[in-house]
Amino acid sequence: MNSLQRSGTLVDRFGSRVREHEVMRDHTPLGVGGVADFFLRVESIDELIDAVTCARESSTPFTVIGGGSQCVFSDFGYPGIVIENHASGHVCAINKSQIIVESGASARSLAFGVASHDLGGLEFLASYSGSIGGAVYSNYMVDNRTLHTTGFVRSSAINDYCKKVTVLNKQSEIVTYNPSWLRSARHTTRLRTQSRETILLTMTFQLFSSKKEEIVRKLSLYSAQHFPDKKISAMVFIDPLTTSAHKVIVQSGAHKLRVGNARLCKESPNRIQTVGDAQAADVRALIDSVRQRVFDKCNVMLEDALDYIGEW
Ligand SMILES: Cc1cc2nc3c(=O)[nH]c(=O)nc-3n(C[C@H](O)[C@H](O)[C@H](O)COP(=O)(O)OP(=O)(O)OC[C@H]3O[C@@H](n4cnc5c(N)ncnc54)[C@H](O)[C@@H]3O)c2cc1C
Repeated sequence: MNSLQRSGTLVDRFGSRVREHEVMRDHTPLGVGGVADFFLRVESIDELIDAVTCARESSTPFTVIGGGSQCVFSDFGYPGIVIENHASGHVCAINKSQIIVESGASARSLAFGVASHDLGGLEFLASYSGSIGGAVYSNYMVDNRTLHTTGFVRSSAINDYCKKVTVLNKQSEIVTYNPSWLRSARHTTRLRTQSRETILLTMTFQLFSSKKEEIVRKLSLYSAQHFPDKKISAMVFIDPLTTSAHKVIVQSGAHKLRVGNARLCKESPNRIQTVGDAQAADVRALIDSVRQRVFDKCNVMLEDALDYIGEW
């Protein structure tokens, strides 16, 4: 059975919206990656559920992405369907301080959106343009060691604000859980450890009333860390417990390394930046070189924060 036949139910449901041979470099901020067999942009939670269910029923490998900032697709492509989640829907206010957000919503827009209702807590998301799905998956956080750049002292993690989480489980059932189900830890959750078997549909956040001036002040400080114009990845390495990845990268001199058109971002060395026609293989080779240099010079073994997708 060829791959087009395998995706039969997807084509039945979504018609010509299922695109063949989509170049993934066009769908990730880093701008690398080969061709996915199939690609579908979904606009609602119902479509997301249908797409994942159809992919499962036709045994088509699938990956759900939001902004794609944490994904490095191989130059050899992806042998399945990439489902790009744009289910941002509307934000429903349950009461004055709880909101339900669809997983394809922009995290940065959410931070600004709730601010207009004088609700605070998520200002730290203003530095970041990915989706709620991607942020919850990796428990997006800003901690004390990096906060010196913004002047705050308290660490924040997105899942600390979780009140309920609704997912599509492995059996394609919709289930709502309390936050403990996520097993949130440093830059990881159950969504990540279960190898993308469970798909986040919506998240209910508990926020706090706050003074507008204070929210606006924090939003503008965190926005200074936002680099919308660069071809840039998410964090490359998870911060080790005893130091920060940023610090050991600079200490070891690894921030000056470069492979092909991939290098580390000058303003934020724990992120990869690409220029021109970079290859995913360059990105991965650079990451391996940085890890080795840091280990050799600082005796710290850095752990991957990025997800490598496809055939390497
Ligand atoms: C400029 C910038 C600044 C950043 N700063 C920080 C920071 O300060 N602190 C920090 O912790 N992180 C930071 N990050 C990393 C950030 O947390 C993650 O990159 C981000 O949350 C990924 O969001 P995304 O929509 O781009 O995810 P994607 O790259 O699209 O997806 C990431 C992973 O999540 C999975 N996924 C996506 N949606 C779903 C879903 N609905 N259900 C299940 N799985 C899903 C994907 O399959 C993939 O494996 C930063 C990233 C950038 C680009």
